[in-house]
Amino acid sequence: MFDVARIREDFPILKRQVNGKPLVYLDNAATSQTPQQVIDAIVDYYSRYNANIHRGVHTLSQEATEAYEAARVKIQKHFNAAKAHEIILTSGTTHGINLVAQGFTDLLHPGEEIWVSALEHHSNIVPWQMLCERSGTRLRVIPMNETGELELEGFLKELSPKTRLVFCNHVSNALGTVNPIEKIISAAHQVGAAVLIDGAQAAPHIKADMQALDVDFYTVSAHKLCGPTGAGALYGKEAWLEKLPPYQGGGEMIAEVTFEKTTYAGLPHKFEAGTPNICGGIAFGAALDYLNAIGMDRIAAYEHELLAYATEKLLAIPGLRIYGEAAQKTSVISFNLEGAHPYDVGTILDKLGIAVRTGHHCAQPVMDFYRIPGTVRASFSFYNTRQEVDTLVAGVGRARQMLL
Ligand code: PLP
Repeated sequence: MFDVARIREDFPILKRQVNGKPLVYLDNAATSQTPQQVIDAIVDYYSRYNANIHRGVHTLSQEATEAYEAARVKIQKHFNAAKAHEIILTSGTTHGINLVAQGFTDLLHPGEEIWVSALEHHSNIVPWQMLCERSGTRLRVIPMNETGELELEGFLKELSPKTRLVFCNHVSNALGTVNPIEKIISAAHQVGAAVLIDGAQAAPHIKADMQALDVDFYTVSAHKLCGPTGAGALYGKEAWLEKLPPYQGGGEMIAEVTFEKTTYAGLPHKFEAGTPNICGGIAFGAALDYLNAIGMDRIAAYEHELLAYATEKLLAIPGLRIYGEAAQKTSVISFNLEGAHPYDVGTILDKLGIAVRTGHHCAQPVMDFYRIPGTVRASFSFYNTRQEVDTLVAGVGRARQMLL
C-alpha cells in the first residue's frame, strides 16, 4: 500500500493555492518539490554548523566537513559506485557534463568521432558541439523514431576504433523514453569508447547502479530528486577521473602551489575548486535518505500506475496527441491539442492551479523531429494523485472548449 496522502503531508508547498485553486504540481521533470525533512536539513546546517569545509580546525568546520563527506558517501551508496572519491559534487548535471567535455579536449584528435542521441537535452548536446570545435572531432547522431525510441542499428554498425565517446540520456526529458543504455554502453566499450549517461531524468524514477552498468560517467541533479537547486553529482570511474585534467583552478583542488608549479589534489578534490555548495551537498544526502526510506522500487511502481492512468484518460480527449509512446517510459506525458498552441493550453491550466511545462523543453531537435514548436508536458512524481490527474484531464478539456 502506497500511502500517498501520508507522503503529501511531508511537502508543505503542496498545501498552497494558485490562482485560488489547490496547486496541482505536474512539472516534476523540471524540478521536484522539497519535503520538510530536506528543508529541516538546510535549516539545521545554517542554524547550527555553517562553516567552510576541509580547511578548518575548529568544531563547526569539522562538523560541516563530516556532514558534507557523509553526503558524498550517501550518494556513492545510492548509486552503488565502488569508491566515494568517484563521486564529484557538482552544481548539477550541466556542470558534470561540461566538466567531462572540457576534460576530453586534449584527449581527442581530428578525424575521431563522438556520438550523441537524438533525444538529448541541450545540456547534453551543446558541450559536445563545443568539444568538437575545440578538438576537430565529428559529432554523429543516433536517430530516433516516431514512437520516441532510439534506432540503434546504424550506430551499432558504424561504431569503430575512431569512436571515442558516446553520450546519451538514461531517460528523455521531453518524452520520458527510457533508453537502452546497457546496450549502448557495452557496444561502445567493445570499440574502446567512453560513455557518459545523463541521468538527470532517470534518477528520480530509477536507481541506477554504476558498477552493474559499467558506465564511465553518470550525471545527476539534486533538484530533480527532492533536493536543493545548485547541487548534483558526477560519477566517474576512477581511471577516467585520474586521466582527465582539472576543470577549474582555485582553492581546494591543489596539493601544493608555488609560482613555478602547482600540483593537484587527488580525487575527488581535484575537480572541486573553490568553496562548494556545502549546504546543498548535505541536503542532497538528506533527499536521498528521504527517497530511500520510501523505497525507489515502490516509487517507480506507483508512478508507473499513475502514468498508465493519466495516459488512458488524456487519450480519451478528442484531438489530443501524445508524443513519445515508447514501450519503456517514466512518468512524463508530452502532448498537444490539435489546433491549439501549447503555450495557450499551459496558460489556461495555470489559471486552474495546474503547473505543467510548455515549449521545447530544451530539446529542440526532438521538437524538430515531430515538426512542432513544442508540447505541453505533464510530469508526475510519487506525491501526485489520481485526483490530480482527473483535475488535469478536466483542465485540458476546458482548454479545448475555450481554444477550439
Ligand atoms: N539533462 C536532462 C535530461 C534534463 O532533463 C536536464 C534538466 O531538465 C538537464 C540535463 C540539465 O539539468 P540541470 O539544469 O539541473 O543542470
